Amino acid sequence: MYSFPAGMSVMMDALAQGLGNGLKLGTPATRLSRSGDEWAVHTERGVWRTPRVVVATPPHVAGSLLSEVAPAASERLLAVPMSAVAVVHMMGRDRTGLPEGFGVLNPRTEGVRTLGTLFLPSHIPGRQPEDRWVLTSILGGATDMKLPERSDEELTAIALADVERVTGFVPRTERVRVHRKLKGIPQLRVGHAARMREVMATLDSLGGLALAGNYTVGVSIEHAAQSGVAAARALMGEAP
Ligand SMILES: Cc1cc2nc3c(=O)[nH]c(=O)nc-3n(C[C@H](O)[C@H](O)[C@H](O)COP(=O)(O)OP(=O)(O)OC[C@H]3O[C@@H](n4cnc5c(N)ncnc54)[C@H](O)[C@@H]3O)c2cc1C
Repeated sequence: MYSFPAGMSVMMDALAQGLGNGLKLGTPATRLSRSGDEWAVHTERGVWRTPRVVVATPPHVAGSLLSEVAPAASERLLAVPMSAVAVVHMMGRDRTGLPEGFGVLNPRTEGVRTLGTLFLPSHIPGRQPEDRWVLTSILGGATDMKLPERSDEELTAIALADVERVTGFVPRTERVRVHRKLKGIPQLRVGHAARMREVMATLDSLGGLALAGNYTVGVSIEHAAQSGVAAARALMGEAP
């Protein structure tokens, strides 16, 4: 478990700083095409031509971008199942009964709807006001795909009730924020690694094109970052 006192955005800000003016935000790619020795990245703000491209989007977006240049690989990427998740952040003042530790994971067999809850105060100093507690609950996942579509109020009620039921802590909230990612986490089902090897081999044969992301090697931030480094090295002709 890791983070930064100012939040995970520290990582993204550091990467953005390295790119300087080369970084173009708010410019979704719409498709990739080949034009001589170069790739053409089509965006809503024009076409960029480049000899090398790393496609670091979620798999369904990569599949859509590659549909013209690698139809079979595109089909494989579009078929990667994605689970939906909702994240409920809760903040309050009274810490009475707040357990020590970094959080809880709830096995499905326990009949608890919330997948898990992080207790921010105890494991990341400096992330919230000294006199407040912050809890983050995650709901949904592959076995409860429809749950994240519920209203903020319903999700919050479930998250609060589950915290109390599992930990005994009664969370009296001052502030709640709900986020959803309906195509959140790729499900790396049996045979996924072999399917991805086929996809990678196809893209390798096209030259100057690589994939990176949490569906290529593993879903953790660490694996996603490793896949980006590997993709860049491959395109630069360096050892992995
Ligand atoms: C709720 C939740 C909790 C998690 N908790 C943890 C955790 O505690 N520890 C851990 O290690 N992992 C955790 N993970 C998993 C991990 O965060 C992700 O798997 C990882 O961050 C994904 O990285 P990525 O680069 O593959 O994808 P993303 O971070 O999703 O990056 C994909 C990028 O592609 C961009 N994009 C999309 N479409 C286009 C387009 N058309 N053109 C251009 N760009 C586009 C997006 O804007 C985005 O920036 C969690 C995931 C979720 C959803």
